Amino acid sequence: MEICPLCNGFENYNGSCTTCGSMLVDTGKVTDYLDDYSAYMEINLLKLVDGDLNSLANQVCLHLFNCPTCQVEQIIAIQE
Ligand SMILES: [Zn+2]
Ligand SMILES: [Zn+2]
Repeated sequence: MEICPLCNGFENYNGSCTTCGSMLVDTGKVTDYLDDYSAYMEINLLKLVDGDLNSLANQVCLHLFNCPTCQVEQIIAIQE
């Protein structure tokens, strides 16, 4: 059984904003926030990185991060 370390509080992800470099704040799983429109949009972006959408979806937990400085939301795939 795959367990996401962030969802379970095992560890914190220390991501930085690609725009300003500030520490990103984990606001939770993407699936808890996104509607169909934005979910499809982000999945398409991820597909470009991995090339195999099915394997990617099974192995990662998508988390929504927020930059407190830019107020920009970023989605990062966390390996489970
Ligand atoms: Zn997670
Ligand atoms: Zn920022």
